[in-house]
Amino acid sequence: MTPSGLTSPSHNPVFSDSRNVSKFLAKGDPLELLAQEIGPKFLDYRRRWDLAKSFTQIPPFPLHVDYEIKSLCNLRCPMCPMATRKGPQDQLSLSLTQIKEMIDEGTQYGQASMGFGGLWEPLMSNDLPELIAYGRDKGLVDVMFNTNGLLLSKNLSKDLIQSGLTRLMISLDAVNPQTYALMRPGSDLNQVEENIQDFIAQRQKAKSRLPLLRLSFCLTKINQSELPFFLERWENQVDFFSLQSYGRFDDQAPALFPDDFSYPSKPSGRCAQPFKRLLVRHDSQVLPCCDLSGLSLTLGQASQGLKQIWTAPTISNLREKLKNSPFEELPPTCQKCQSKFQA
Ligand code: SF4
Repeated sequence: MTPSGLTSPSHNPVFSDSRNVSKFLAKGDPLELLAQEIGPKFLDYRRRWDLAKSFTQIPPFPLHVDYEIKSLCNLRCPMCPMATRKGPQDQLSLSLTQIKEMIDEGTQYGQASMGFGGLWEPLMSNDLPELIAYGRDKGLVDVMFNTNGLLLSKNLSKDLIQSGLTRLMISLDAVNPQTYALMRPGSDLNQVEENIQDFIAQRQKAKSRLPLLRLSFCLTKINQSELPFFLERWENQVDFFSLQSYGRFDDQAPALFPDDFSYPSKPSGRCAQPFKRLLVRHDSQVLPCCDLSGLSLTLGQASQGLKQIWTAPTISNLREKLKNSPFEELPPTCQKCQSKFQA
């Protein structure tokens, strides 16, 4: 079906088997591009990442830490648990000082990367440029975050480029304003597209190859017919794309599943997230993975120190299970998560 107002792409797009891949490349492999820009330190970081991912070597500290500074978002998109969250918003947040102290601790032990992941919109914080510059100054080689892009003003783009951000990942999901309004209620497609163009212009003006720009498309029944048009619209302007699966949370509406959606019958791999990374939530809870499926796997509070949490029996036991135990003996949360997403 052709979405209203769109004509068919004029060429055979590069994403013809898009339902079977998680990432498309627009201008080459993003890791290779980052290695070219950042050099040997980035290659060393990725070497250590691969060793951790293959269970060969547990680093002395997480290689990547995500900080969820606040628990706030300016939108309520139907595919996000924020949309169905009950009760008042949690006012707790991580302070600038807390995050800087965690960066100090991490860079002392070989942390190489950070993000602002979790269940929130990172541009709801005014502290990102300062924190990114602080982290890069301390030796972090890769710094990234996902955003819906609505608050990405021209000045903020300029500040983020200057701060040393290495990857900017914007969730867009549509080319047609009507479709976008269903995917991102309360946002404004024209405004976000303008923000993206402004970001690209500012980066050109700064003569900088970084931050790399990724656009994401979360495939649902609402937008499934627009994927080829989306990729054609942006393929010559962005560095890479991400096609994301819908269906991560129990309370999501099944009506949004794309037509050919099905969960894999069995997991095809083992999760290595607790070998590589941690997520510190806005209320200081520390989790072993960036996937919100792991919300019940709390490892402790950030005030204990991330190094202490990283080497404690709780995460060591989880790693042992993920590496060696049969699927049936994994924690129920991991069974549920892996059966859905590790294929
Ligand atoms: S399998 Fe467990 S540790 Fe891995 S991402 Fe899922 S919930 Fe987190």
